[in-house]
Amino acid sequence: MIEIDGAQGEGGGQILRTSLTLSVCLGVPVRIKNIRAGRKKPGLLRQHLACLRAAKAISHAEVSGEQLGASEITFAPGKVRPGKYHFPIGSAGSTSLVFQTVLLPLLLADGASELCFEGGTHNASAPSFDFIAQAYLPLLARMGAGIELALDNHGFYPAGGGSWRARVQPVSQLSKLELTERGEIVDCEAVATFAHIPAHVAQRELAQVRNKCDWQPDRLYQKRVKSQGPGNLLSLRLQFEKVTEVFESVGELGLSAERVAQRGISQMQGYLNSGVPVGVYLADQLLLPMALGAGGRFRTLNPSQHFLTNIQVIRNITGTEIQIMEFDDNDWEVVVDCN
Ligand code: ATP
Repeated sequence: MIEIDGAQGEGGGQILRTSLTLSVCLGVPVRIKNIRAGRKKPGLLRQHLACLRAAKAISHAEVSGEQLGASEITFAPGKVRPGKYHFPIGSAGSTSLVFQTVLLPLLLADGASELCFEGGTHNASAPSFDFIAQAYLPLLARMGAGIELALDNHGFYPAGGGSWRARVQPVSQLSKLELTERGEIVDCEAVATFAHIPAHVAQRELAQVRNKCDWQPDRLYQKRVKSQGPGNLLSLRLQFEKVTEVFESVGELGLSAERVAQRGISQMQGYLNSGVPVGVYLADQLLLPMALGAGGRFRTLNPSQHFLTNIQVIRNITGTEIQIMEFDDNDWEVVVDCN
């Protein structure tokens, strides 16, 4: 059984999710202690429990410590069983993080899967459904993955109630990913999504994008959606020849529409100024598919603590060589060597 210290590096939930994914894919049992020791509320929250239960369901794993607040678990997976699964989180926690926990094992399994998720779809501090669909999955598709998504209902924190489906076609091996340039810009789009709040919030967010980024009005959209509770999200999409990046900012009570918009805009401007193809979030999310596939390389911004911790966990469990080299400020090359 491989021992993982959940307090290492950032000490967050990613250590748990990465360990579960690798444990199921490689068929190796893991013991994870000090779960989320670096967080204010350590241990398993509902969202993490949902990831654990999803990983258990697809692999018929034997699990100890499966309860809210647990700081230690053991997880011994069986063979991955593709098929139909329904994963309700039971809160507004991020469904995308549950999806990312089980995606790679199901992708590398010996049959197709149909998945249904319920909970939050557009959460702060997690990839939204749109980020998954527009930025993450197109790169996995380039590596050979066939995944289709359909969003049925938006779910925002705290009401939740979102739902979506994924169809996963298996692939025998993910191919190498080489992403060292963006190519020319092809398109840009800003979408201000809102539910149960006044439309002027979305309009002011888009006005901020127009003023600060000089984007044309026909690239700015407001989208009123149905949802169980109120919510708002500004999503900025940049499509280049070789990559699409998405920068998002979730509306918060007490934060003006202009400040919400500015958070997304500042992130996007930092990325634009750097010239690299891969933003901070995509960078940490690409490590696992690359390590479980044929590796490759990409250029990205200064590494986050989250990214460095993820590398450490992947190295511990798989022995994969992951090198990072600094060329300049906000210009790093990451090489995942699977040979
Ligand atoms: P916790 O211990 O609270 O659960 P965590 O380690 O699970 O923390 P985060 O560090 O917040 O969670 O990151 C979760 C994941 O969400 C990471 O893979 C990160 O890349 C992704 N993520 C966070 N914010 C965004 C965003 N704005 N756009 C895309 N992905 C994001």
